Amino acid sequence: MSAPLPVTIEDIEAAARRISGRVLPTPLAISPSLGKLCGEPVGLKLEHHQTTGSFKLRGATNAVLSLSAEERARGVVAASTGNHGRALAHAAKAEGSVATICMSRLVPENKVSEIRRLGAAVRIVGRSQDEAQEEVERLVAEKRLVMVPPFDHPAVVAAQGTLGLEIVEAMPDVTTVLVPVSGGGLAAGVAAAVKARRPAARVIGLTMERGAAMRASLAAGRPVPVEEQPSLADSLGGGIGLDNRVTFAMCRELLDDIVLLTEAEIAAGMRHAYREEREIVEGAGAVGIAALLAGKIRDITGSIAVVLSGRNVDMGLHLSVMNGETNPFREEAA
Ligand SMILES: *Cc1c(COP(=O)(O)O)cnc(C)c1O
Repeated sequence: MSAPLPVTIEDIEAAARRISGRVLPTPLAISPSLGKLCGEPVGLKLEHHQTTGSFKLRGATNAVLSLSAEERARGVVAASTGNHGRALAHAAKAEGSVATICMSRLVPENKVSEIRRLGAAVRIVGRSQDEAQEEVERLVAEKRLVMVPPFDHPAVVAAQGTLGLEIVEAMPDVTTVLVPVSGGGLAAGVAAAVKARRPAARVIGLTMERGAAMRASLAAGRPVPVEEQPSLADSLGGGIGLDNRVTFAMCRELLDDIVLLTEAEIAAGMRHAYREEREIVEGAGAVGIAALLAGKIRDITGSIAVVLSGRNVDMGLHLSVMNGETNPFREEAA
């Protein structure tokens, strides 16, 4: 094999010790309906029950705890208005630091107040995510705030891997793990943990057809940009970073496959989660269920674990998906 990977099982075990007591260990719930469909036991990793509503709290907490006291006192900064922004706001406050979250003027007021409620300082600048990111870089250069990236950072990847340790502990005979992929921090960490414990297990990444940046990058052999498009799985949007240092190499080495889902399949996954499992999950969190329902996971033998990664979905959108009403992101509208 090639050069050693940037995050090892020892890093993941250290992250587990560091964040213990600060994030919730989440349950792995057996799903009778999916078990029947697949003919093998299926466990749902209920990570959408995590504090702040997604696994991003694991990475953000470990990143903040890995800083020196002096760095923590200066404060952390990021440009995410989604799950990473929520997680970093919460993690910084919990550790006596302050997060500054930069966002554009186009971000809806409810998202802004939610990030404020979690204890962050909010800076509203410009009219795009790029301008918000420029503000982050300015704050790093001028105020010496510490940037905490959402996925391409060893401390973040190591902590997302703790979820993989919990899966193997709850389901020691797991043979297939289904995990959502965007920037690849979650998939890289989970795959590193699962394969260290169960080398024969498969780890399969899942993402939406539209804008599948990691899959396009793996196919090209280097990080490539993708055009961002609206999707029910909005938390899976965005690229992997053209100067990617950590997650591209790890996903290339450790993922067995990346499977793509249509908007209709993702909607069906969300509906199954609600109707059969009584769980509210966002589109990104439903891609594993969606792939099983769509019959897109082949050669299943043995126990399957499915990561439900988040639950931060607009409730009006969730309701319309549950009612099977017009999906705003349906393929025909593209
Ligand atoms: C961020 C996120 C993902 C993707 O994680 P990456 O580490 O960027 O691949 C999946 N699901 C949810 C809910 C997320 O917030």
